[in-house]
Amino acid sequence: MKLLHFDNRFVTTLPGDPLEDLRPRQVLGACWSPVRPTPVAAPRLLAYAPEVAALLGWDADDVAAPEFTQVFAGNALLPGMQPYAACYGGHQFGQWAGQLGDGRAIALGEVLAADGRRWELQLKGAGPTPYARNADGRAVLRSSLREFVCSEAMHHLGVPTTRALSLVATGEAVVRDMFYDGNARPEPGAVVCRVAPSFIRFGNFEIFAARRDLENLTKLVDFTIARDFPELEGEPDVRRAAWFTTVCERTALMVAHWMRVGFVHGVMNSDNMSILGLTIDYGPYGWLEPVDFSWTPNTTDAQGRRYCFGNQPQIAQWNLACLAHALLPLFSDSAPLEQGLEAYATSYNEANRQMTGAKLGLGRLADADLPMVQELFTLMQQTELDMTIWFRALADLDLAAPSLDPMAAAFYNAEARVAHGPALEAWLQGYAARLRASDVSPEQRHTLMLQTNPRFVPRNYLCQLAIDQAEQGDLRPLQRLMEVLRQPYTEQPEHADLAAPRPAWARERAGCAMLSCSS
Ligand code: AMP
Ligand code: MG
Repeated sequence: MKLLHFDNRFVTTLPGDPLEDLRPRQVLGACWSPVRPTPVAAPRLLAYAPEVAALLGWDADDVAAPEFTQVFAGNALLPGMQPYAACYGGHQFGQWAGQLGDGRAIALGEVLAADGRRWELQLKGAGPTPYARNADGRAVLRSSLREFVCSEAMHHLGVPTTRALSLVATGEAVVRDMFYDGNARPEPGAVVCRVAPSFIRFGNFEIFAARRDLENLTKLVDFTIARDFPELEGEPDVRRAAWFTTVCERTALMVAHWMRVGFVHGVMNSDNMSILGLTIDYGPYGWLEPVDFSWTPNTTDAQGRRYCFGNQPQIAQWNLACLAHALLPLFSDSAPLEQGLEAYATSYNEANRQMTGAKLGLGRLADADLPMVQELFTLMQQTELDMTIWFRALADLDLAAPSLDPMAAAFYNAEARVAHGPALEAWLQGYAARLRASDVSPEQRHTLMLQTNPRFVPRNYLCQLAIDQAEQGDLRPLQRLMEVLRQPYTEQPEHADLAAPRPAWARERAGCAMLSCSS
């Protein structure tokens, strides 16, 4: 295995916890605690992402070395690794939850790649840390596989995200109560290695603000800017203001992409918000199948639906407001923070407008187009149209004779089709007329739409089928899914079944329509 060059700035620059005590406890005055992964009985590499290995400088031979599986199961460390768990807090479902921290995530170190890029490696499910709050620090195969698949799928979809290097089965059972309803059972355990330039979350800052620990809050802010935002310059005040605005803008872009591809994160707590504007912590996430702005895959959130599809843009801003509140003591005046929050709204609206225009093949939307767009989404929701299939097929609309035929597979509900078909056809007429009048050529429109509207997304039921098979020892469905999701905008006719609408059986099945935070 080729050696990696580690430059562990987080642990070498920021204050750490002097104790090496794994018992659950409050960790004060420190950004991290030293923790070693807990070894597992019988690790087996189930899958890896060659693109992520390549970012680190590794090829198939490096991955094939037995040491690779040992390291990414948590049984061994590579020279230069300095494992730790980070201390953070967060607002969960709208309430301040106090200290949370990496309860089952253990960072291994920061790789400095040959091209100068920095990649932090982090195991998820590698055993307890002082932040495990009496839980086991482990993760089950089903949720690890979902995180592994979706991280890479999101990357290939063009959505900012943390990456995933490997999925390793531990050979040990983990006991979980999937729906918190008294039906705990042993499930196979697994460890994912996540990869990102930084895993710092809004909650890393919030915890110091909540504890009135200005010294460490300042250190962490200045560290983050210096390491992760080196392009920002100027006096500290100016730089911090520019930084907050940048975080707001990046978050806006991330959420606009979620809305473009129909992704619902499911648990947008402020501890699950990356300071880099990356999608992070794939838990009970889901993909819109029938368009429904009030839909959430997370049964833990079924009552309030705080994190439903349509709320995501607002919730991201709410989380940014929590971050702003935490940063306030570092600013002599709140105006720059307020400006950042306004920049969020402006950036989100601009990105959403541009992406929606591209989805429709119109380029940037004019004000006059907005009612037409609004009407489309209303009709899609009323008719229960499949988000992915509808937009992809819309590229094939015959502008001279528009009809619903190319989009036939998008309908889930025959009655709704009868009820709303005429309104949809009328909408198509108006849309086709708008396109005929536009200066975008038919070829340009087609290309733009196919680049913006994916043919393949990791629908929950597809992941669930891959999980069912992987639990039985058959990794082929997982490998095929990974392969197809590498090119989500390419037609790949031989894989048409993976672009099909959700089958009826998946509508209510656990893991397909319903997930929980239990993972
Ligand atoms: P999440 O809902 O996954 O974002 O997790 C919220 C908090 O609970 C974080 O501090 C996690 O590290 C912690 N946590 C979740 N599951 C476990 C587990 N199985 N063991 C230890 N900590 C956990
Ligand atoms: Mg989390």
